[in-house]
Amino acid sequence: MLKSEYTFIRPHILRMAGYTPGEQPQESGFIKLNTNENPYPPSPGVTEAIMDALRRGLQKYPDPLATTFRIEAARVLGVEPDWILAGNGSDDILTIVTRAFVGEGDLVRFAYPSYLLYRILAQLQNAKWEEIFFRDDWTLGDEFLAPQNRLRLIYLANPNSPSGTVIPSGTIRQWLDRLPCPILIDEAYVDFAQDDCVALVKQDERVMVSRSLSKSYSLAGLRFGFLIAQPQIIHELRKVKDSYNCDTLAIAGATAAIKDRMWLKETTERIICTRERMTAQLRALGFDVVRSQANFVWCTRRDRPVRPIYEQLKAKKVLVRYMDYPGWGDGLRISVGTDWEIDRLIEELEEIL
Ligand SMILES: *Cc1c(COP(=O)(O)O)cnc(C)c1O
Repeated sequence: MLKSEYTFIRPHILRMAGYTPGEQPQESGFIKLNTNENPYPPSPGVTEAIMDALRRGLQKYPDPLATTFRIEAARVLGVEPDWILAGNGSDDILTIVTRAFVGEGDLVRFAYPSYLLYRILAQLQNAKWEEIFFRDDWTLGDEFLAPQNRLRLIYLANPNSPSGTVIPSGTIRQWLDRLPCPILIDEAYVDFAQDDCVALVKQDERVMVSRSLSKSYSLAGLRFGFLIAQPQIIHELRKVKDSYNCDTLAIAGATAAIKDRMWLKETTERIICTRERMTAQLRALGFDVVRSQANFVWCTRRDRPVRPIYEQLKAKKVLVRYMDYPGWGDGLRISVGTDWEIDRLIEELEEIL
């Protein structure tokens, strides 16, 4: 907190609260199911590639365009490398896109409840934002596409957090005729879903898709994400990004990770399998659980408050995410862990309830 009334910090920064990340306890021994990290290690190729890069040394600046990564990612996605922009996590990608499209006094739009960072990104630009409430079945009404003065960017987390629900790409394709401005589809969890929107990027330059290596590739600590957009858009976004936004070790690790398709397939299949099992078990314990296409599930209850459940689990060293969305309601967002971790969670819940 600044003590003096007098400050050079811009007023809209002073007014904002900032983003609160999920707890990262420094104590050991927690079963951590609160920030959607992957419980399985990354491909063994990742460590090897990072060690190799380290042996080659860090005296030189990294490749500003992360070319080795873009070549591999382009191959996987069926686009050319100039359709890809690499970032220091997909949060960096979201920041770059926002800075390029949204100015002071402009308007952005996103669904509610969803990823809380979108609001922060708008606040940083001193822009306005509009939250369109999801309907009870986690679909979006026509207001999501309504034209609006100074509307510059729509964000859509798909799959959404905290619900894990998906707007099918076919629905979004039908939106394109009425789309009032560019849309950034945040596919941080898409590898756990059955559908994605990359084909729409090829169809319309206003569609951009962001991806993350934090969740499905087990690399939250490495910081790597990327954007898929048409080359003329990527060309402009490159001007906005930090010159060296991805470091040498991250580029090496990310390139190895995206190459190992088998590893991704096996670990995501395992997580999906555990997700389906825990959904059924949580329902049997009286939770309302939304069908998820991500690596977490959203649990609410009608018979009792969930906050005490979060607290009692934490006391037992099982950490889940308690979320309270003003105007919407609260619930527990529980990441899919290993089978052993989920067994522990269910045992503790059986005792609490
Ligand atoms: C985790 C997450 C991100 C951020 O991913 P990083 O690549 O770790 O920056 C972006 N969007 C959503 C919806 C997320 O849950």
